[in-house]
Amino acid sequence: MSEWTTIHTPVIAGNWKMHKGPVATREFFHAFRDAYPPHEDRTIVFFLPAISLTAGIEGLGDRADIDVGVQNIHWEPQGAFTGEISARMAWEAGARYTLVGHSERRHLFGETDEQCALKVRAALDAGLTPVLCVGETLHERRAGRVADVILRQLDAVAGVLPPDRIPRILLAYEPVWAIGTGVNATPEDASEAHGVLRDRLHDLVGDAAAAIPILYGGSVKVDNAAALLRAEGVDGLLVGGASLDPSGFADIAATPVAAA
Ligand code: PEP
Repeated sequence: MSEWTTIHTPVIAGNWKMHKGPVATREFFHAFRDAYPPHEDRTIVFFLPAISLTAGIEGLGDRADIDVGVQNIHWEPQGAFTGEISARMAWEAGARYTLVGHSERRHLFGETDEQCALKVRAALDAGLTPVLCVGETLHERRAGRVADVILRQLDAVAGVLPPDRIPRILLAYEPVWAIGTGVNATPEDASEAHGVLRDRLHDLVGDAAAAIPILYGGSVKVDNAAALLRAEGVDGLLVGGASLDPSGFADIAATPVAAA
């Protein structure tokens, strides 16, 4: 368990993966705005399909309490990379965050630690806040390699950033075996992994590590959100499947948080 405390409001984020085009996105936010009134004590972010960003921003209207981001960017600012989008393009379209290194990107599309590191740097260069996803497979967990894997993934990114830029990223601990499986990590497992990450952040940036939120993701649902959010070292939630339903996600987004 890490001895360090943190100093920011919780972040509750939804990752829609490849769900909801512009029409369904407008419908979602029409319903979500009614179901979820603004809360000052948390940050809400939706990671939309890039093609639905404009519809999402229109659908949010005056809800400045909610941000949107993209799920992936290329590390180059422009060029012959058919099908890709750059961080700057995402920013211009209204994104303020981007996921980097989601396990589906790493495992289905072969993204390497080095590519993730370049993406984090590109995001920061363009003004986007990157949420770096790290996590082990079941095989790696059973082999006792959780810390090795998540620190390798974090260290790759730390290797390309000067220490003063590291506090501008967010982390998401997302064990691969928990994503989309219905099997969440226990709050204790999450706390242990978050502690490993927090200790490394402290080694890298000292006291500034306290300002870096570490989210938990992996089969978060309305009935486990409160326990996971209360877990030691858990600073927020990254929610996949359960973020697709406006009233269900409104309940997760409104999960009570401990008083600061
Ligand atoms: C995710 O896609 O980041 C995720 C955590 O998915 P799920 O909540 O569906 O497990």
